[in-house]
Amino acid sequence: MGDAEVAKLLRRGEGWLEAHPEQAWIASRYLKRRRPLVRQALAQLAPEEDSTDGNGTPEAKESAPERPMRLHDQRLAAVMQVVAEHKPERVLDLGCGEGKLLRLLLRESTAAHILGMDVAHRSLERAKERLQLDRLPERQRDRLRLLHGSLLYRDARLGGFDLAAVVEVIEHLDPPRLAAFERTVFAYARPKTVVVTTPNREYNALFPSLPAGTMRHPDHRFEWTRAEFQAWAEGLAEAHSYAVTFSPIGPVDATHGAPTQMAIFTQIAEGQTR
Ligand code: SAH
Repeated sequence: MGDAEVAKLLRRGEGWLEAHPEQAWIASRYLKRRRPLVRQALAQLAPEEDSTDGNGTPEAKESAPERPMRLHDQRLAAVMQVVAEHKPERVLDLGCGEGKLLRLLLRESTAAHILGMDVAHRSLERAKERLQLDRLPERQRDRLRLLHGSLLYRDARLGGFDLAAVVEVIEHLDPPRLAAFERTVFAYARPKTVVVTTPNREYNALFPSLPAGTMRHPDHRFEWTRAEFQAWAEGLAEAHSYAVTFSPIGPVDATHGAPTQMAIFTQIAEGQTR
C-alpha cells in the first residue's frame, strides 16, 4: 500500500473520480483510510483552478475559434495515449505553458522524472501555482522540475530523456528559427520519442468564428496544411535518424482533415535499418 496504490486509484478513477461528489469517501475506502495516501490522492484530484472561467469555457490557452470543441483537452488526451503506450520514465514537456500536460504526467506512475520547460517566466509561475507543488507530498514533488529555457539553444539539461512532448509550440516560432529548434531537440537532446502537435490550417475553414485566411491565435507565426507538416516532419526524421508516424487529433473531416495534426518521432537505434 503506497504510491502505486494511489496511482492505481487515479488511473481507475480517470474521467469520473475528479468530479465525483463522494470522491473523498471513495479515496479513503480504496486506500484503506491511510491518511497520507488519501491526502496525496485528493491533492492530485483537486479540480483545476481556472480551467474554466465560470461560464464553462476552457482556459485562455484554448484559442477562441477552437473553444467550443475543447480541442486542447483532446490534444492532451492524444499525447497521454502515446505516453501510456511508451511508458517513459524520463519525460520532457517542451513549451509546457501553464502545466496542463504536466498535471496529467504526474498521474502516470511510470514517469519518475518529469521536466517542464518554457521560455516564459510567467507561464512557469502559473504552472507552479496550478500544480500546487508546495502542497504535494515530497516524493511526488521530487518527480517534477520546471525549467526556464529556450528551445532555440542547445541545452545539456534536456539530454537523456525517453519522451518529449512539444504540444502546440512550433507554430509560435518564427519560421527562420525552426532550424534552431530542430537542432536543439533532434540533434542535441535526442529523446527516444518526440511527439509534436500543431494546427492543421486546412481545418480552419470549418471554424465558424474564424475569418477566412486568418490563424487561430494572434501569436501563431504560421499554420501548416497536412502536406506541409508531413513534409517538414519527414525531412526532419530523415535528417536525424528518426522514424515518424502521423495521427490526426479531433473530429476528422473528409475534405479538411482533423483540427490538430500530431507527429510521433521514434529514434532509430544505431545499426537498425528502416
Ligand atoms: N504546450 C502548452 C503551451 C502551448 S503555447 C499547451 O499545450 O498548453 C506555446 C508555448 O510555447 C508558450 O508557453 C510559450 O511560452 C512557449 N514557447 C514559445 N517559444 C519558446 C521557446 N523558444 N522555447 C521554449 N518555449 C517556448
